[in-house]
Amino acid sequence: MRTVGLIGGMSWESTLPYYRLVNERVRERLGGLHSSKLVLHSVDFAELEAMQRTGDWEAADALMVDAARRLQAAGAGALAICANTMHRSVPAIEAAVALPVLHIADATARAIREAGLSRVALLGTRFTMEGPFVSERLRAAGLDVIVPGDDERADVHRIIYDELCRGRIVDASRERYRAVMAALAARGAQGIVLGCTEIGLLVGADDAPVPLFDTTAIHARAIADWQLGA
Ligand code: GLU
Repeated sequence: MRTVGLIGGMSWESTLPYYRLVNERVRERLGGLHSSKLVLHSVDFAELEAMQRTGDWEAADALMVDAARRLQAAGAGALAICANTMHRSVPAIEAAVALPVLHIADATARAIREAGLSRVALLGTRFTMEGPFVSERLRAAGLDVIVPGDDERADVHRIIYDELCRGRIVDASRERYRAVMAALAARGAQGIVLGCTEIGLLVGADDAPVPLFDTTAIHARAIADWQLGA
């Protein structure tokens, strides 16, 4: 089994399910008492969130590169970032370390294509919905990607930082996500990418009229499959 290095704590609320899902996938494939060989570098999300909010992406890149270097020194053979937003730093990481990054959007694109869909909606932080680092990667895989409108994006983003990353699950926010997802399906989305690793804590398959692609579950499975030689 190959050892993977996880960059987590973004937020820890979603790193917990990552850890469980990677291990469950290893057990599913190997059986018995097998579990994942991994190294976790978990950041202080308050520090990272301040860099995101103030647009100090240089500092955020430096924080991610430092984590990647530590994981490389700890013996990881590949890196996985347990969040969508900080995939923004993949170019900086790839320039600094020799390890491959198991990209969350590549695993997600594969899952969408395996489901036979071509047009999906992307939910996530405002950085993920408005930036290219996830959406362009999905488009490069041949997918058509739409995002919610301005007011909807603001609510989707706010609920992630004010509630989900703090462990708060609020019924009214689930209703808001349900309405946003229904509107995206009405605009022609055949599936919806939960492109923020905490969204799966709030909504599930029953909350949308089209299939959901939860990046946490998809990425965790891809990480374990890499460890076991795909
Ligand atoms: N976990 C999140 C994501 O998947 C959001 C938190 C962050 O900004 O890193 O994008």
